[in-house]
Amino acid sequence: MTPDLSTLKPQRPSLYRLAADGHSLDFFFTHCPACQGLSFPANAPGCMHCGHPTDAAMQVVRPGGGTLLEYVTLHVALVPGMQAPSIAGDIRIAEQVVEEGVIAVDDESRLQPGMALRAVAVPSASAGTYGCQFVPAQEAMR
Ligand SMILES: [Zn+2]
Repeated sequence: MTPDLSTLKPQRPSLYRLAADGHSLDFFFTHCPACQGLSFPANAPGCMHCGHPTDAAMQVVRPGGGTLLEYVTLHVALVPGMQAPSIAGDIRIAEQVVEEGVIAVDDESRLQPGMALRAVAVPSASAGTYGCQFVPAQEAMR
């Protein structure tokens, strides 16, 4: 029933990869040697907090996930291939780093601001790849 995600490729290989559990995602960050901040995406030109130059040697891998800040149910597909309705949220994936993500729950009543989310791999419609969605952290445990 569960597809073997390890045979698929990430849609955004510069942002994330499949974690060791074969289900959740690890995110790539840049760890700034000047201010100790994490920047995302890792290939950004310089630290997003203090502007210090960064390079590939400063890349670190952290479990993908974070804190749900706010969310909204979208009733139209904003991009081709997007399911509607779907729930989009702002997720704080590291200190002072907020990204938008799709939250894979069928009803936003299961969500609340401040809850922990985990990034998981979701097979995408285009063959051979997976994308990134978020689920409540306790549901990511298996
Ligand atoms: Zn910095």
